[in-house]
Amino acid sequence: MWVMSRRSSPGHHFFHTNAEMTLLSEADEIGYPVADNPTDEDIEYAQKAVVIHQGQDWPAGRQCINCRAPWPCALNRWGRNVLTAVGYVEADVAGMVCRARNGIVPWS
Ligand SMILES: [Zn+2]
Repeated sequence: MWVMSRRSSPGHHFFHTNAEMTLLSEADEIGYPVADNPTDEDIEYAQKAVVIHQGQDWPAGRQCINCRAPWPCALNRWGRNVLTAVGYVEADVAGMVCRARNGIVPWS
């Protein structure tokens, strides 16, 4: 939802830091489009993307454990955008990631 909010508002007040804005603009350049009406398959890929592309803190900053890009990486962002588009809120995503760490995943 926050991507849509950003596009509908020229202000950057949704974001906290310049570093975050830099990450967002970099990810936009290499970002993946989000379908208006994601299919079940899109949703499953999005769930996997979010679970697999998690951040890990390093001395140089937070990086994706999967693709090593500055986190949130493009795939994590795409996954979250798709899930947000189908009604997930941040707590849903966090819960899904937490359950996945314990081996419980939403896809079959
Ligand atoms: Zn990644």
